[in-house]
Amino acid sequence: MPSHDLTPAPDDLFRCARCGDCCRGYGGTYVTPTDITAIAAFVGCPPDEFATRFCRTSGSRPLLAQGADGYCVFYSAGCTIHPVKPRMCRRWPFIDSVHTDPLNWSIMAGLCPGMRTGFAPERVRECVRRLLEEEEKGEGRS
Ligand code: SF4
Ligand code: SF4
Repeated sequence: MPSHDLTPAPDDLFRCARCGDCCRGYGGTYVTPTDITAIAAFVGCPPDEFATRFCRTSGSRPLLAQGADGYCVFYSAGCTIHPVKPRMCRRWPFIDSVHTDPLNWSIMAGLCPGMRTGFAPERVRECVRRLLEEEEKGEGRS
């Protein structure tokens, strides 16, 4: 990275404190069709039964359901589907909504102790843009 590049590295912006707070409550975890296929195979559930057993819907989009304790159905002292966890969980906090509006970073940081603040919003957006671009080139997942 050139020395004049002021864009923070992902590690400058975020280090997970492993508190589990992001697996409880809040806005919910969207799952894409690719996520559903992978998770259903991992937990041994027919894909066409996955939404009924493990999701609720928000509009027309499926979200992972929560247990009575408010945690994601796949949380038990950590993520029990870590190898196949949804894109949204894998990308957190470098997610599309921060690229759309980098001010979302500060809002999210109020919920996630691993996120660092004090960076210019446009620098945060640029970091997220680069990561999303790398993901698009490398993973090709939706
Ligand atoms: S809330 Fe943030 S720091 Fe806590 S486990 Fe989730 S990502 Fe890590
Ligand atoms: S899938 Fe895993 S990482 Fe994502 S919210 Fe559920 S328990 Fe947390």
